[in-house]
This record gives sequence, C-alpha cells and structure tokens, in this order.
Amino acid sequence: MVPKDRQSLEALPGVGRKTANVVMNEAFGKATIAVDTHIFRVGNRTGLAPGKTPSEVEHQLLRRVPDKWKKGAHHWLILHGRYICKARNPVCDACLISDFCCYNSKNIGKKL
Ligand code: SF4
Repeated sequence: MVPKDRQSLEALPGVGRKTANVVMNEAFGKATIAVDTHIFRVGNRTGLAPGKTPSEVEHQLLRRVPDKWKKGAHHWLILHGRYICKARNPVCDACLISDFCCYNSKNIGKKL
C-alpha cells in the first residue's frame, strides 16, 4: 500500500520530494507542486517563482499560485515548459503570457 503522507513517502528508497509531490498530487489529490526541470525553468524565466533550487521554486509557487489552481498547476507549468517555454528556443512569439513574463532574452520576432 502506498503511503499518503510526505514523511512516509520520502522514507521509501529512491523517493525524494519531487516524487512524493507527484504521488500526493496524482494519487491522493493533494495541492502539491512537483518542481521538475521544466517548472524550474519556467518559474525562473517568467519571474513567477524565482529560486536557485527546486525547493525555492516550489516554495515560491506555493505562495503565489492561488489555492484553487494548485492541484493542476504542476501539469500546466510542465506543458508550458515542454511545448512553449522550451529550454533552447522558447516560442515567445506564440506565448500567451509573454506580456507578463520577465525573461530578458525572449524570442520575439526572431527566426527559429
Ligand atoms: S515569453 Fe518566452 S520566456 Fe516568457 S514564458 Fe513565454 S515562452 Fe517562456
């Protein structure tokens, strides 16, 4: 049986904070936000959740994302990072949040 709480999950071999957050969110409906490489990048580029470590970014996201959207935020941010705010060539021309994004090197009007 899979434990529901963070402490028990993180006590399992190979389970860190990110995996525990995913399990708590997906399996048990908790409002956790697992910070992977996409979310780390999006949080820092946009200015929504700046941080030097995944924990810092997670903390900022939990402070800034309204409660009603916390459950889905993990997926929305990952998809944004995977398909729009990509690591090498972010698609800033097509990005719906471009006006709110703090990234200094936006791909606006550049040929990709
Ligand atoms: S404007 Fe560009 S850098 Fe900013 S979130 Fe959108 S894709 Fe990412």
